[in-house]
Amino acid sequence: MNNGFAVAVDGPAGAGKSSTTDTVAKRLGIKKINSGSMYRAVALYVLRKGVDIHDEEAVLAQLPNIEIELTDEDVFLNGENVITEIRNPVVDAVVPITSEYLPLRKKMVAKQREYAKTTEVLMEGRDIGYEVFPDAPVRIYLHASAKERANRRYKQNIANGMAADYEQILNKINERDMQDQSRKHGRLLTLEDALAKGYIEVDSSNMSEEETVNAIIAHINAARRKQCFIDSQEG
Ligand code: C5P
Repeated sequence: MNNGFAVAVDGPAGAGKSSTTDTVAKRLGIKKINSGSMYRAVALYVLRKGVDIHDEEAVLAQLPNIEIELTDEDVFLNGENVITEIRNPVVDAVVPITSEYLPLRKKMVAKQREYAKTTEVLMEGRDIGYEVFPDAPVRIYLHASAKERANRRYKQNIANGMAADYEQILNKINERDMQDQSRKHGRLLTLEDALAKGYIEVDSSNMSEEETVNAIIAHINAARRKQCFIDSQEG
């Protein structure tokens, strides 16, 4: 069964995608899929195998050996729960390289679409609203200014008792945005590109997490009402 209702949330790193979409999905009783965790699990697998990550053929040769399953809370790589390991900084560094290989992306996208066949999903990532579910009734571009994202990360680091240098954090964020936007496959859209493709913008720069959650829920509810109206006209 495909109930045809998917919510796509794309946007840059550090805009609060993960935490806000977790809350949105829980409140609405929708399955949440973090597509980045799938690419992270693949990166972890090739790292463990000692494959040269810059050798595309060698990475792709591993694809048939990799099975990934997501539950609401966990990520399974060939049956092993790797939810903690995929957040390792070594994986952070490798995943932008391996996730650019097109056949690898195709395998992940096929899996992501499978999840939406049986249930309503909210999926977050970079290419969800233009590649995975271009026809999704709700496609949101969730972003915040680089300065605000750096500010949040800075405060987070301080709160966690970690060393924090605001300028350094800001530079890293700008660098990551550039890297995510300039890749060949699965790139992060700029805000302008996203708007041109019909995404709805949610700018969380001056919003609390609760306000951001409510804004996303309002867009989803509006799309549901529209869908109900269309169904009633057709049926
Ligand atoms: O969302 P997260 O930061 O965990 O994603 C980790 C990395 O996975 C991103 O930096 C990006 O390189 C890759 N990714 C991707 N396509 C997606 C989601 C994530 O290429 N849909």
